[in-house]
Amino acid sequence: MNLLSVSNLHVNFHIKKHELAALIDVSFTLNRGERIAIVGESGAGKSVLGFSIVNLISKPGYIHSGSIKLENKDISKMNLRQLQEIRGKRIAMIFQDPMMTLNPVLTIGDQLVETIRSHTRIAYKDAKNIAIQKLQHVQISSPETRFNQYPHELSGGMRQRVIIASVLLLNPDIIIADEPTTALDVTIQAEILQLLLSICEDNGVALVLISHDLGVVSKVAERTLVMYAGRIVEEGPTLEIINDPQHPYTQGLLNALPQMALPGQRLNQIQGSMPSLSERPSGCAFHPRCPYATEKCQQEQPSFINSGVSSVACFIVEDMLNEFADEEEAYL
Ligand code: SF4
Repeated sequence: MNLLSVSNLHVNFHIKKHELAALIDVSFTLNRGERIAIVGESGAGKSVLGFSIVNLISKPGYIHSGSIKLENKDISKMNLRQLQEIRGKRIAMIFQDPMMTLNPVLTIGDQLVETIRSHTRIAYKDAKNIAIQKLQHVQISSPETRFNQYPHELSGGMRQRVIIASVLLLNPDIIIADEPTTALDVTIQAEILQLLLSICEDNGVALVLISHDLGVVSKVAERTLVMYAGRIVEEGPTLEIINDPQHPYTQGLLNALPQMALPGQRLNQIQGSMPSLSERPSGCAFHPRCPYATEKCQQEQPSFINSGVSSVACFIVEDMLNEFADEEEAYL
């Protein structure tokens, strides 16, 4: 059984009497210990999806339809008490800015001990020992000293390590990491990604990494889902997505990576920008930015089809596959 199965998920925002779709027909699965990535530009729906998984979409947003099953229990139908049981304990979240999670007026130690004692009845001294062990586990130097420090006394990278330590306290099955390294400089980014990777591997924790950066994703995720305007437009093994992207949007994201530009050359960009929820184009929402768009693309939504080991929603890929199939049939 899959650990997590998201099926036909639709999330809407009800704004000024209008229903705006933020997620449209999103489906994917996650196995125990698997690492997947959700990639796309800002506004693609990645974070909405991350929050939806733990049913944390706040008004005016809401889950319109579909299901989010953790094993056989539907998170989208759970009441607050049931949600509190799974948030943190079964599914934990890490955000881009650790200060969103850390309380600035409490020491690191007090926050970690409070997390442990709110879920387990143990003495302060024992909780402190566990907290210090977890700080060591995430390679924080002088953990006894850090235990007594406030968040503002630590660097950004160290704060993110503290968050990872706090997430580990409750041994979750799934970590959702929403742009966990975006606010950090490049060398620290690599260290935090490596830490996340080894923690997931060592503890059999599944990871949902949300990122705008395919370069970051390629270092960590086994499978990648590319999102555009609230839909998944391509899904497949990360290596396949990086080496042979099928969807024009995925190709654009890859071309826009700084390492794809020649020295002295301007960075490649996908022309135009992500549409807002209220201005979603008709048909394939990527058509105003797509170099291959046809009239059909402006009118119809392509369906998600299998293309080798990946799946993709694009008419040109569909046409190519149909041509191959016809040629093969003619040959036989
Ligand atoms: Fe481009 Fe059309 Fe494919 Fe959309 S369906 S990505 S507009 S070619």
